[in-house]
Amino acid sequence: MERMVFDWERIRSAPRFDSPAVLSGSDSAVGNAHGPRRASGALSSADYRRRRAEAVVLFSNGGTRATGSCFVKLSDDPDFTQVTACVRRELARDVAVDLDALLGCGASDGMDFEAIETAARRQVLALAARAIEQRLNADTSDHAGPSLDCECGQAARYAGRRKKVVQSILGELKLDRAYYHCPHCSGGFYPRDRHLGIEKTCFSPATVRMIGTVGSMVSFQEGSQLLRELAGIGIDASQVERDAEALGEEIAADERLHTGPLGEDLLPPTLYLGLDGTGIPMRAEELAGRAGKQTDGSAKTREVKICAIWSAEARDSEGLPMRDEGSVSYSAAIESAATPDTAEYRSAFAERVLREASRRRFCEAQRMVVVADGAPWVWNITQDLLPGAIQIVDRFHVKQTLHRTAPSIFGSTEQAKQWATARCAELDAGKLSAIVRALRPHAADSADAARCRLYIYRNRHRMRYPQFHKQGLCTSSGVLEAGCKVAIGTRLKRSGMHWTLDGANSIIALRCCRLSGRFEDFWERRNDPIAA
Ligand SMILES: [Zn+2]
Repeated sequence: MERMVFDWERIRSAPRFDSPAVLSGSDSAVGNAHGPRRASGALSSADYRRRRAEAVVLFSNGGTRATGSCFVKLSDDPDFTQVTACVRRELARDVAVDLDALLGCGASDGMDFEAIETAARRQVLALAARAIEQRLNADTSDHAGPSLDCECGQAARYAGRRKKVVQSILGELKLDRAYYHCPHCSGGFYPRDRHLGIEKTCFSPATVRMIGTVGSMVSFQEGSQLLRELAGIGIDASQVERDAEALGEEIAADERLHTGPLGEDLLPPTLYLGLDGTGIPMRAEELAGRAGKQTDGSAKTREVKICAIWSAEARDSEGLPMRDEGSVSYSAAIESAATPDTAEYRSAFAERVLREASRRRFCEAQRMVVVADGAPWVWNITQDLLPGAIQIVDRFHVKQTLHRTAPSIFGSTEQAKQWATARCAELDAGKLSAIVRALRPHAADSADAARCRLYIYRNRHRMRYPQFHKQGLCTSSGVLEAGCKVAIGTRLKRSGMHWTLDGANSIIALRCCRLSGRFEDFWERRNDPIAA
């Protein structure tokens, strides 16, 4: 029997492309785009919008999927055709018999369609599993002679074939694989497991991918239920947790390695970078000794710091800039943003911001804009890493602060609402000194009023909204607020959840990767580590 080139993931995922969110291209051109370089062929807003629309049409064209920077129809792939032809022949023979038995020979009146489609799917999957199992077990080419090199440098000896049960998305596969044992280090290995990507797991790559998908979106308990209900795979919640977190850890490591620019042609004239933080509930043992906002000074949460990059070349009905659909990418983690003045190294979060800026070619845009809520660590990082960027305090955050401050001056009254509304109007009109003046008489009695006054005063150059609007800049897209909610809140802040540091960071990495449209790229690198 000839040796079969076998790639589950490609067979399974043929006519599909998950997300057009980010137009990602080749990642071979690894290099940093740091520094205020300007792209030679920068696009105008109109050009950018037109070319982006064309690219989206290309992505939504079914049957193709992005492979690096080109599009390949998998049905043209000879390996793919060979495997599917084999499976198809067996299916045609056996399924026809089974379906006849299910459907009976009579009329279709009174037939329970759901029962039939469910039973048929189960049988088709079981049959495909059998076909693949037989085919793999008949191929003994993984026995590559009496000895192979062991990782310890000595020779490992062939020690027969051994069984392993692998949970695939088709059901269980019982695989026989050649085993090599090393007498020097007492270790052993299975060449086929390495080739199939099942070396340290009993789940096939496509099963791991499903676990990662549900683990990034819903609780591990719900994920386990969804896998059972939709895919017929029984994996308990704690196993979903372990495997989703292990995958997230791989993604986090991959994110640190791959900082090369994505999307070769489509650089919008203005790019926005947003920085924000949001607290998530942690397990008690993760918080020991940490100061927090509880009345006894203890902490219940830790802050996830998030960096988002997007463009806003689209215009709404009034001609105001609007975030471009699908242009947002996220990177986030619970990590430090503080760097002592004497430190030689940047903080972990500063490094994260640099990596994301490099991937999105942020510093090559004609205009760089940093939008944030005004926390000091944000502007320290901005000043350090992106000194040429226009700094804007998110208008939404300022208005929120004004609305929060009003009741602490006037109580929860109608007067408080009117006061806040008047200050927000002044903010939009650029009358910042009027706001500071309105806060001054209350500063002595209200700590909130004093804080708010200082906040407006210190950030006044970042709140010149009428000027920013004249320049066509977006000052409150809601991207930051939505980003914290979508990327972090909806998954990590649900009631009853308490995270470990590592667990949270894994799921955050997994979620950011998927929401940024990079899961497919990661998966290709994972399946083909040599090409990556
Ligand atoms: Zn060895």
